[in-house]
Amino acid sequence: MAEKIEKTAKEIIESYRGPKIRIMEVCGTHTHEIFRLGIRNIIPENIELISGPGCPVCVTPVGFIDEAIMLALDHNATICTFGDLVRVPGSEMNLAGARSKGAKVQIVYSPIDAYEYAKGNRKEQVVFLSVGFETTTPVSCLAVKKAKDAGLINFALLTANKTMPGVYRTLKDSADAFLYPGHVHAITGTKLCEALVNEGVSGVITGFTANEIMTALAVVITRLQEGGSFFKNCYPRVVTHEGSKAAHVIVSEIMEDCDSEWRGLGVIENSGLKLKEAYKEFDARIKFHLGEVKGRSNPACRCGDVLQGKCKPSDCKVFGKGCTPLHPVGACMVSNEGACSAYYQYGGNING
Ligand code: SF4
Repeated sequence: MAEKIEKTAKEIIESYRGPKIRIMEVCGTHTHEIFRLGIRNIIPENIELISGPGCPVCVTPVGFIDEAIMLALDHNATICTFGDLVRVPGSEMNLAGARSKGAKVQIVYSPIDAYEYAKGNRKEQVVFLSVGFETTTPVSCLAVKKAKDAGLINFALLTANKTMPGVYRTLKDSADAFLYPGHVHAITGTKLCEALVNEGVSGVITGFTANEIMTALAVVITRLQEGGSFFKNCYPRVVTHEGSKAAHVIVSEIMEDCDSEWRGLGVIENSGLKLKEAYKEFDARIKFHLGEVKGRSNPACRCGDVLQGKCKPSDCKVFGKGCTPLHPVGACMVSNEGACSAYYQYGGNING
């Protein structure tokens, strides 16, 4: 049965001869998987697949890296972070460069690891770099809750947590339809995508196998030809209408909405999350009295345009020359989910 669906989806995709359509892969993992699985090889020229803003490291602005470096070098804080962020350029240097100047930077795999580190090293002020979308935020909240319950006074978050609905609205004219990220909507549920249909936003939620991605693309192609806005959950084995109630409970207890800056997109209203007043002792900006920090990205870097689907990574002048995974100029070349790293890894100039 699965083989039959996959073949049917493949036929729908390959045989498309209608007007040009643009489909945005919101999620960086989809960009990578579509390359890796060879799906781009069957996409006709009149279907353009464009990358989107769904890589948490990529959308985190330069100023956030500067804040983390400031905390490490000026306030002697120990920075706990996911590995990708260490090589993302700040205005003057990245965290690896700060480490060579004496900054203490620990790589962790989860906010809970950072909490455990703080618990075991109470003489250090520990700051976890809390980036990510709806998927990772609940675990950051859990780490704060555990720290509060344990009476830890040496643990804080530097928050850049983001939520997706605002950016879907911001980018709704960039593409004819979105491939929505399956893991984000496993947490949020399908409700917000359903509501966006009334605002003219179309898309399908999809998983990450070849069958799931091709089925989703076939649905998008078919529904676009029918006309009107649409939504379809093509990942029902994981994504439900309600999403994860446990995740909603912990996040709404610890965090609240705030405006948030996205790399290349500027500040989007209510597209971020910050710690609530009751947890402000765990907010690194408050704890260390950080003022406003404005980062400066390398003027050659077009990450902001890549994240909005305005250009392909290979349109950037330094792609594959001055900017490679070994020597990244921008965040999209650093992260495993970054579009520039996907194009570099899989032979970057493929059409679409
Ligand atoms: Fe930025 Fe490098 Fe991508 Fe160009 S190739 S947009 S410099 S990350």
